[in-house]
Amino acid sequence: MKVIGSMAAMQRQSAIWMRSGEVVGFVPTMGALHEGHLTLIRRARAECRCVVVSIYVNPTQFGPKEDLARYPRPRHRDLALCRAAGVDLVFAPANLYLPDHSTFVEENHFSQGRCGTSRPGHFRGVATVVLKLFNLVHPTRAYFGQKDAQQVDVIRRIVRDLNVPVKLIAVPTVRDSDGLALSSRNRYLSPEERTIAVKFARLLQEATKQKANQAAWLRRQLKRLAGLRLDYVEIAGGRLCVAVWVGKTRLIDNERLPSSG
Ligand code: AMP
Repeated sequence: MKVIGSMAAMQRQSAIWMRSGEVVGFVPTMGALHEGHLTLIRRARAECRCVVVSIYVNPTQFGPKEDLARYPRPRHRDLALCRAAGVDLVFAPANLYLPDHSTFVEENHFSQGRCGTSRPGHFRGVATVVLKLFNLVHPTRAYFGQKDAQQVDVIRRIVRDLNVPVKLIAVPTVRDSDGLALSSRNRYLSPEERTIAVKFARLLQEATKQKANQAAWLRRQLKRLAGLRLDYVEIAGGRLCVAVWVGKTRLIDNERLPSSG
């Protein structure tokens, strides 16, 4: 497995692959890899000749009061997991922005509302880094988790609007055996907080089984749950989408609603 840290070296490698017409599968991550990431990687491994994983905690998608500094960075473990999963190349740059970087990508439809409201500038940062990574890696196929459903919609729209030659694949959310969606941020939770987070995940599942008014039902239940602060509950794109705070940790999740009729 190759590990590349510079943008120039990454572009040199992707130019070689492009010239020989390789199918390159790409999984962008912020590291602290878990079974959710590994599911994306395994899917890429099954479908592509070359598999690239990027590990980069992107500062432009964090707000000034968010967890950029304390975001987990278990680099050796991440590399070992990638190696075991058969990854060909890990792109782990220390920095992707020049000091006078002044260009950003903005999607103005799907990035409105929900996490776009709670985290101003977040999707601008995501859009910018993902387009930069696409230009560095030149993937044929790129894999994203449906857990970040709004992110998938934003990136899909950018790829369409800016004619990016990549096929996006959205992979279903991977959950722990207790139902909690896997997330690098779960490691912030104390045992007590984790119990609350699991209740939150169960209520989301129960909400999807309600015959009507699922969002209102879930909002009511979550407001009653001690130790949890509701950010939003919304239906978007046929999915019940929710964000909450458990202590200092923000958790998001979503589940498809059965189509009516
Ligand atoms: P992150 O490292 O949090 O930026 O996530 C990298 C990619 O992994 C994104 O496309 C996420 O949507 C995806 N991902 C994170 N958690 C999960 C999960 N539990 N199930 C499926 N995909 C996930």
